[in-house]
Amino acid sequence: MKSADIIIVGGGVMGSSTAYSLRKIGYNGKILVFEKDPIYEFSSTSRSAGGIRQLYTTDINIQISRYSLQVYKSFPTTMAIDGEPAEINFRQRGYLFLGTNDMMTSLAKQKTLQNKYGVPSEVLTAQELIDIIPELNIQDLAGGLYCHEDGYLDPYSVMQGYRKNAQKLGVEYISEEVETILTEQNKVTGIRLVNGEIYQAPLVINCAGAWGVYLSDKIGIPLPVYPLKRQIFQFDTSIPLKKQLPLTVDPTGVYFRHEGDKILTGFSEETEPGIDFTVKRSLFYDDMWPILASRIQNFESVKLTSGWAGLYSFNSADHNAIIGGHPYMKGYYMALGFSGHGMQQAPGVGQGLAELIYYGKYENIDFTPLRYERFAENDLVLEDAIV
Ligand SMILES: Cc1cc2nc3c(=O)[nH]c(=O)nc-3n(C[C@H](O)[C@H](O)[C@H](O)COP(=O)(O)OP(=O)(O)OC[C@H]3O[C@@H](n4cnc5c(N)ncnc54)[C@H](O)[C@@H]3O)c2cc1C
Repeated sequence: MKSADIIIVGGGVMGSSTAYSLRKIGYNGKILVFEKDPIYEFSSTSRSAGGIRQLYTTDINIQISRYSLQVYKSFPTTMAIDGEPAEINFRQRGYLFLGTNDMMTSLAKQKTLQNKYGVPSEVLTAQELIDIIPELNIQDLAGGLYCHEDGYLDPYSVMQGYRKNAQKLGVEYISEEVETILTEQNKVTGIRLVNGEIYQAPLVINCAGAWGVYLSDKIGIPLPVYPLKRQIFQFDTSIPLKKQLPLTVDPTGVYFRHEGDKILTGFSEETEPGIDFTVKRSLFYDDMWPILASRIQNFESVKLTSGWAGLYSFNSADHNAIIGGHPYMKGYYMALGFSGHGMQQAPGVGQGLAELIYYGKYENIDFTPLRYERFAENDLVLEDAIV
């Protein structure tokens, strides 16, 4: 019978950051990571917009993203392998929520909370927005919430950086699909693969992203989480912008940023839950482009160059991740439900889970607010700044 001390299901950014962090803090046991999609074609990490922000409305999310931002700043050197920097193309060009008059009180309140944790966010007037985006139409805007430290990065490279470092430290990746987690008398005993093989382990971490809820269902632990399709498009503009864009979120929810010379844009449209990767260009032409064109004149004449769909692991209860162990299923741990903000949380979450498992408690950030039990206890962590 094959066995391990820890099995991680899913080798995306969460599984890989957790595996690496366990090793980094000194865990020496055998760790196996099972990944069904070795080229990561459909994983959320490879399809992400890579926005990195500290602009959140809850204490815990601000703390996680502040921690993760520091990690990303030094990622190329700290994660270098054999002197080769782990480039992640982190462009600290800022993150900007544009605000209409009725949004400004809330944005000012958010700024106060963020500043308490050392985040240098600032409320800008409509005129000050022009300094950042000279072409911006501010007619209907009263200002915005801006953080110059934030920006965007290449999610796939982050994941590969964690994966390669984990492997270098002895973590083994196996390209197989886990059919189910195995349990006996309220404790985890291992996993069974789709090919029928069984691996024994006393501890299994569910990092299976948008698919993780189905694995949890199979062992009788339903979660208020479902996969939700999100689309991204890239286009060229005939007249380039004067400055590089921060990741900018329009009051309508349409967001945009530079990707090389192109513009990358996305929007959280109303859609049915489920695994769905179909791209509908009509979303761009009918819903997004009119908003983009009225916000920035240069976007009136555009050429759509590509588009793709990815999945949020969407927590319908409070739009936040579920982190930590299960109270009654011994050995079952989760990092799921990131609802579109997993990239900016991955370093902090991996470190937190590793601490919980190795030391039996959180050392850096207290992830208790994101525990599984919060749903039954009706102690939700409601995050308002969801993109
Ligand atoms: C369009 C889009 C835009 C986004 N934009 C942002 C953003 O700007 N900023 C931000 O912070 N976040 C963003 N996100 C969210 C972020 O990308 C995710 O939260 C993050 O990548 C989740 O990582 P993960 O490792 O949990 O999931 P994944 O990357 O999906 O990894 C899970 C892995 O588990 C594997 N797996 C699943 N089931 C099994 C099984 N049974 N056996 C073996 N392997 C299995 C899958 O193949 C997958 O590779 C965005 C997401 C999308 C889709």
